[in-house]
Amino acid sequence: MSLWDWGQTFLALLFPERCPFCDAISVGGGPCESCTSPDHGESCARDLPEPGNVPCFSPFRYDGEIREAILRFKFRGRRDYASWFGGKIAKELLRRDLSRNAVLTPVPISAGRMRERGYNQSLLLARAAARVLEIPCVELLEKVSENQTQHLLSLEERRKNVRHVYRVKNGKAMQKEIILLDDIVTTGYTLAECAATLREAGLHVRCCAALASAADRDGQAGQEDEKRGKL
Ligand SMILES: [Zn+2]
Repeated sequence: MSLWDWGQTFLALLFPERCPFCDAISVGGGPCESCTSPDHGESCARDLPEPGNVPCFSPFRYDGEIREAILRFKFRGRRDYASWFGGKIAKELLRRDLSRNAVLTPVPISAGRMRERGYNQSLLLARAAARVLEIPCVELLEKVSENQTQHLLSLEERRKNVRHVYRVKNGKAMQKEIILLDDIVTTGYTLAECAATLREAGLHVRCCAALASAADRDGQAGQEDEKRGKL
C-alpha cells in the first residue's frame, strides 16, 4: 500500500465518503445502491464557440439530481464528491481515447473567489481525473481580473465578459497536448476563451471536458443556480 493509499484509508475512516445524491455512506464514494440509476450517465459532445473552436465532452447533462449534486459540490463545500465526479470525466475521456499523452489543466478561478470558496472545484475534478488516467494535472492558467459572474449576463455580454481575463502562468516548455477542464459548460465562452489563451501562448489544446453540459445555453438555469449558491 502506498502512502497515498494509507492516507485515503485513514481519511475514509474519519470522514466516510457519501452518496452525492442522498448523502448515505457509500463505500468508495459515488452513488449508493439505492441511487444507482442509468440516468447518472448521459454523455454529451459539442463544439465550443469562437475563439476556442474545440470539442467539449461531458459525462452528464446538467439536469435533475446531477445538477443538485454539482450545486452542493460547488457552493456547499462538498469537495468530497470530486473523486467520483473526476472518475466519471476520466471514463468519458478514456472511452473516446482522448487522454493518451495529454495533460489536464483546470479553468482557474480568481483570487477573490478562491478566498470566498476555499477551493477551485475544477482543479479538484482535474486532479481526480488525472489520477485515474495516470496523466499530469498542471495549473497552466490564472484568472487575472475579476469579471462579472457569467450567469447574470446576456449571451452577447458573456462573450465580451470573458475576453482577456485569463493568462498562461507557466507551461512555456509544455510539449504535450492539453485537455482543459471545467465543472459545467453552458454557453461555452469561458472554456473557449481559456483554450484561445493557451493557443495564443503557443500551446496545443486537444479538447475540453466538463463534468456536465447544460442544454440551457442561454443560461436561465445558471442564473437561478447562482442565486441559490449565494443563499
Ligand atoms: Zn444514494
